[in-house]
Amino acid sequence: MGMEEWGVEMKLGLFGGSFDPVHLGHLLVAQAALEELELDGVCFIPATQSPFKPDAQPAPAEVRLRFLRLALAGLPWAEVDAQEIARGGVSYTIDTVREYVRKFPSARLHWLIGADHVAMLPTWRDAAELAQLVEFVVIPRPGDAEVPLPKPFRGRTLRGFPLGVSSSQIRARVKAGLPVDFLVPAAVAETIRNSRLYL
Ligand code: ATP
Repeated sequence: MGMEEWGVEMKLGLFGGSFDPVHLGHLLVAQAALEELELDGVCFIPATQSPFKPDAQPAPAEVRLRFLRLALAGLPWAEVDAQEIARGGVSYTIDTVREYVRKFPSARLHWLIGADHVAMLPTWRDAAELAQLVEFVVIPRPGDAEVPLPKPFRGRTLRGFPLGVSSSQIRARVKAGLPVDFLVPAAVAETIRNSRLYL
């Protein structure tokens, strides 16, 4: 994805998360967003520490970045953005979005968000400014009810492709000695197998 080649009407998908590890649910919804919103590309933005998971000790940032790079290799529309890792500390979406606005002032920014996080949106840091700067793309998660965006947030719900996979489920399977093939990209499964991660 050559960002510098994009025109002024660029439409960008921004996908934040822990990605511990990235799984096929993430990849499928990113592709669905690309198609349904006719995005120019999707940036995957791993967090150092989610404000909503203060006690979580995610896998080291380099490992989560490596998984993302393996998962997205060869996809021309996808990019890994390590800015939240580089900043360190708790990762706030507004800081990341301000950076995109600075870099791409004329782009339309679409923030991908799982349905499980929508109800909490009003509590996100600088919520009013965030609601102005980005349109939200709500990702349906199987088993979760469809949640309308609270005011003043704008956006739409994605149609494809709900997949009942989560990173915590994958970590639990590794811990239990179960395979994670077909839930994560093959290269990620192999890297997990060859490491002591999530045991
Ligand atoms: P965990 O199980 O550790 O909480 P997760 O699978 O929800 O992790 P995150 O990296 O926290 O993964 O997710 C990043 C974003 O992707 C969040 O907005 C989350 O709601 C969304 N998401 C994750 N898995 C899916 C899925 N299978 N379908 C749709 N959205 C998903």
